[in-house]
This record gives sequence, structure tokens and C-alpha cells, in this order.
Amino acid sequence: MESVSYWFRNQSSGLDLRWDTYNGELDITFLRLASTEALVTASGAFIREVLELELNAAGVIRPNKQYMVYYDGGSTYSCGAGAWPPLIYGVVSAMYLQGEPPGATGCNTNQLGASPTATGYLDIAMFHEFIHSLGLASTCAPNHHLSGHVSDSPNDLMWAGDASWELPPRLDIGNDDYFRHGNPDCPDLANVGYIVPLPDDYWLPPGVSK
Ligand SMILES: [Zn+2]
Repeated sequence: MESVSYWFRNQSSGLDLRWDTYNGELDITFLRLASTEALVTASGAFIREVLELELNAAGVIRPNKQYMVYYDGGSTYSCGAGAWPPLIYGVVSAMYLQGEPPGATGCNTNQLGASPTATGYLDIAMFHEFIHSLGLASTCAPNHHLSGHVSDSPNDLMWAGDASWELPPRLDIGNDDYFRHGNPDCPDLANVGYIVPLPDDYWLPPGVSK
């Protein structure tokens, strides 16, 4: 989380995420799932949805927060996922630490949290999924592509396309799609309600209440 925060502060020229803390420390919850790993894996592309259902059933989801979940189980589909409201409602962004997506190296070949100042794949991928869970990139973004991604550079945080992702990424290259883009009719990460300092006119993702 420290490396995610460090990367975002650098890329945004001083903004940070409004982290949930208790007595000055990040508020971290551990939850053992009711479902077996085999059952969760069998949900294929919907592991994130299963995790959110389980968290809800356990009563640990508050409607005004976003959750970054590190799931220590497998996936035959991907290394993580986010929601993308209003098409996919949800407040859970998740990384599947033991995932083995087809045609890729295992997710656990990447070290989690290796350095507080050098974001590795799992760190930055979590932030990528979190951006999706805010509903970004939105379909109103000029370079919107493939459900929540952008097409203008493989070095962009929200890139998806044929070329491989260039890491470490940069935040909204060209400031035209999801960060400080200047279009008041399209949601902007700089003004979402999870930012410090809190913007006066902040917005919350569809489905999220104050
Ligand atoms: Zn994505």
C-alpha cells in the first residue's frame, strides 16, 4: 500500500488516497472465506464477485468505502479484477496472489510489496483494478477502449491492447482520459471522494453512498 501511495503521490503531484486508518496505522482486515478455494476458482472470471459476496455476508463491507483485497488463492483466468460501475457494481478490487492465467507466468512470480518506493506488478495492478472500481476509464474518455481501459499508450496505468504493458506505468498520459482531463461531463480521478485533500465538489462511483 505504501508503494501504491508513493507512486500516486508522484504521478498526481501531491494528491494521495484517503486511506482508512486506525490509531495512525492502515486498517487491515483478515478474513478466512467460507468457500473452499476449489469452489472460488470454479467461478472462473467471477472470483472478485465471489469475494465481494463473502465479505458482504461476513458484514465487513461499509457502503462508503472501497476495498483492496489480496486473495491468497488461485485463478485460472487472471491475476486480479475490479468492478466497473455502472456496468459492474462493486467496491472490491482484488488481486489473486496464486493465480495462473493461461499463457502468462504465475501471478506469484511477482513479489508483493517488494519496495515502498518502487511499485512492482502486483502493487500497480491493484491500483489499476481500484481505478476500474471507480468506473474509470469511463466510456466518455476519448481513448476509452476495451471496457475501462485506454488505447493511447502501453505505458499508461489503464492500458489494454495487443502490446504488453510497460511498467512502471504513468497516470493518464496526456491528461485526456481519466485524470485532470478538464472535461466536467466526464468523471475525473482527481475529484473522486477518496482523494486527499478532499475536493470540494467530489463525486462517488455509481452505487456508492456517503
Ligand atoms: Zn483493467
